[in-house]
Order: sequence, then structure tokens, then C-alpha cells
Amino acid sequence: MELFDVYSLFDVTPVRAKGCTVWDDKGQEYLDLYGGHAVISVGHSHPHYVEALKAQLDKIGFYSNSVRNPLQEELARRIGEAAGYEDYALFLDNSGAESNENAAKLASFHTGKDRIIAFRRSFHGRTSGAVALTDNPAIVSPFNAHHRVTFLDLNDGDAVAEELMKRDVAAVIVEGIQGCGGIHVPTQGFLQTLSRLCRQYGAALILDEVQSGYGRTGKFFAHQWAGIRPDIITLGKGIANGFPCGGILIAPQFQARKGMLGTTFGGNYLACAAALAVLDIIEEEHLVDNAREVGEYLKSQLPESPRIKEVRGKGLMLGIEFDESVAPLRKALLYDKHIFTGVAGSNMIRLLAPLCLTRDEADRFLTAFSEVLAQ
Ligand code: PMP
Repeated sequence: MELFDVYSLFDVTPVRAKGCTVWDDKGQEYLDLYGGHAVISVGHSHPHYVEALKAQLDKIGFYSNSVRNPLQEELARRIGEAAGYEDYALFLDNSGAESNENAAKLASFHTGKDRIIAFRRSFHGRTSGAVALTDNPAIVSPFNAHHRVTFLDLNDGDAVAEELMKRDVAAVIVEGIQGCGGIHVPTQGFLQTLSRLCRQYGAALILDEVQSGYGRTGKFFAHQWAGIRPDIITLGKGIANGFPCGGILIAPQFQARKGMLGTTFGGNYLACAAALAVLDIIEEEHLVDNAREVGEYLKSQLPESPRIKEVRGKGLMLGIEFDESVAPLRKALLYDKHIFTGVAGSNMIRLLAPLCLTRDEADRFLTAFSEVLAQ
């Protein structure tokens, strides 16, 4: 059997990794400014993370959600403390898309309504429910069985007010910073307006922090720059540093009911052990501060070039937009300079480095980037 051929692959086969470094099967070393798409938060194969997973596997790897799992309770307490959301509740699942589906479902249960407001250029995942909330013609399927979705322009508070006044909206969903749609940043004022309007009209505000979460922007959550408290916060990607794990943080006004949400794998022992180790490392190594400091440094030191149209983003979630396709630049960075970067659309280089990126590593990228720009 062959693989279903849906991914465009680079001709690189990583076999080993440590911190922000990856080695391929020929022993070539690469600097990782992509983090496997914002998933590697505390660095590859961190010794504490590796140890925590091995130790957990030695005890018990999996049972089911029909028995008490103290690791889930510990994780809820730890995320609550780290994020400043002690009064919220945690539901654990397996991915970002699943988290957004659970959030939308919960909002519908809570409000009895089925319409969702989402934003142009949003990305919330690829399952049929999450893809329905996503504004990307390349991946949206015609199948939308779950909610009626209205897409509005990001940062247009008046348009949101106009829709919410109709009082048929269960939720507004917005990314902390739009990732796959091209690092578009909601203004603090816009997020505050969303928060106020949702409260006024009884809609749930869902903050998708799947990509912008857990320290990447220099605060624990990107929305915390705006000082708001959303009703539901969705998690995925970096929370377990590559062990599949997602979850939602749920405000106290939502009443849990037995059977309301559920999953086979969500919150299993290994995922919890991985997620707890990630929090240990984030705290121990001050990685939220590091993401802010090294991210600001990286942004401030990017070379001036007439080819660069705009640089957007915060912390270690940065997009460098060009008027041209960035495919040749990205290839030169990978094959000549041995640096992994990401993209958004065709004209943006997207940097999603592990949160432990050092200034020296940032400098290495800056030098290489100047050189490929000059070519
Ligand atoms: N939300 C956002 C903001 C994302 O960037 C992504 C993944 N790129 C998702 C949701 C979906 O996450 P997953 O692929 O784990 O389902």
C-alpha cells in the first residue's frame, strides 16, 4: 500500500532532534524555526520531557475516561495556575480541530443557538465541523452539517455588532493571532469589543489559541495582551510538544452534563504526562519571557529589503510578507542554509520556532536570511 499523496514534501528525512536543532538521515544539521508547525514548544527531545514520558509508560499508558485519572486533575490545576484561569474547567481531547468542534458544540448547547461568527482568513482545523469555521478556499468542503457560519472581516467591530444584534449567534470564534491565514493580528480594541458584545448579546467568545497559545506570543495566551477573559479557549499543537493532545478551557457559567462531550483518547496518561512536563519546562526555563524577548529581538533585527512588504506578529509567531512567492527563498534557506521555516499562503515566510530559541540561533537565521535575500 502507498501513502495517500496529500502532502507536498521537502526532500529531507529528519531522524533526530534536540532543542532547536534537527538532523537528517545523512547527518546534516538544521536549525528549526518552524517547530513542526508550532508544535515543538519546549524544544525537541528535552530530557525532562523524555524522562516524564518514559516513566509514565512504565506505569500505565492508557485506560479510559470511565475511571478517575489524577493526571487530568493535576493538569487542570496546573494549566489554571499557569494561565490565570483557576476558576475555569478543562476538557481534554486530541487536536486543535477537535478542540474547536467541542467549543462550538458547547456554545450551541449553552445558548440553544446554531450560528457562529468567524473571520475571513481564519483557520480552525480540517475536520468537517472545524473546516466549516475556516475561511480558506483550498481546504473548505461543501459539507457543513453542524453550524451556520458567517464570516466577517477581522477587526471590524461594527460588523460583529450588527450580526450579534440578531440574537441568533451561539459563538464568535477568533484566533489569538491568525496563523495559517497570514499572521493577521486582532487589535486589542477589537478583542475587547468582541468580549463586550458577546456578553451583551449572550454569545460565547471562543479564543482559538491552538497556534498562538502557551507562551508563543510572549504572554501565556495571545488574548491576554488585550486583558480579556474569553468564555472558551481552545488548545492544541504545542501543549504536549508533539504528543497529540488538545483541550478546551471552559468558563464557570457553562454547566457540565454527563455525556455532553467525550473522547476515547483525550486526556490519556501519556498525553497528560507530556503536557505536565511541558508546563514544568515552560516555568523552569521562563520560556514565555524568552519567546517575547527573542521574538522581539528577531523582529527588530530583520534585514531591511525593498522585497519585504510587511512584518507582522508577536513573540515567536512572526510573518514576513513579500510581494512575490517565497518558495525560492524558503528552499534556499532549507537546502543552502539548512534552516527550516514555515509559510502562510504563497507570499509569507512564517516563523514558529520552539520557545527556547536563543539569541545566537536567531542571529544564525538573520545572517542566513540576509544572504538569501541578497542572492
Ligand atoms: N486552530 C488553529 C489556529 C490552527 O493553526 C490549527 C492547525 N494549524 C488548528 C486549529 C487545527 O489543529 P489540528 O491540526 O491539531 O487539528
